[in-house]
Amino acid sequence: MARYTGPVCRLCRREGTKLFLKGERCMTGKCAIDRRSTVPGQHGAANKKVREYGMQLREKQKTKRYYGVLETQFRNCYAEAERQSGMTGENLLVLLERRLDNVVYRMGMAESRKEARQLVLHAHFTLNGKKVNIPSITVKVGDVIAIKEGARDNAKIKSLMEGLASRLSPKWLEVNRENATAKVVALPAREDIDFDFNEQLIVELYSK
Ligand code: SF4
Repeated sequence: MARYTGPVCRLCRREGTKLFLKGERCMTGKCAIDRRSTVPGQHGAANKKVREYGMQLREKQKTKRYYGVLETQFRNCYAEAERQSGMTGENLLVLLERRLDNVVYRMGMAESRKEARQLVLHAHFTLNGKKVNIPSITVKVGDVIAIKEGARDNAKIKSLMEGLASRLSPKWLEVNRENATAKVVALPAREDIDFDFNEQLIVELYSK
């Protein structure tokens, strides 16, 4: 399965904003955006004029990188968003938010979406009682995400469970911090997505 394996802080510097790809480190003074926010590369510091297409492209790249999805997955997600009723841009963000790896991250069982994706790929979670290892599954209202019984002895899972009490989760997820389970009690709404996206720019880019 294809995935980005390069330096992730570089992605934040390219988008000019914190994408929170490295968990705890993103909250510390070691964050590359806090230390050096210029665009990476030889001409990164140059003050280039950004045109309309450039803005649309950057918004798409920022969104893809924030959710840790590659181009084909993102395109497929956009196609699904277009098929749904309502605003395509909002549908796209909601679909990305409903990905299983994002849900594991949002429930507090991973420090980053990348880590959540790894944990799901290694089949440490169940969805409605069944073992699951596909990070891109779209969750529905009523779905229950839990740690697989055998995975509770895993050192990484144990430490994440210990930290669960101090983590916040969105209102569309009902998290049982004792058992480390989460139930999807509603679909996320646009206002539940607390990151500065301009999804309309993505719609404009793909409508060309
Ligand atoms: Fe981005 Fe986190 Fe790296 Fe900062 S530490 S640049 S927020 S990945």
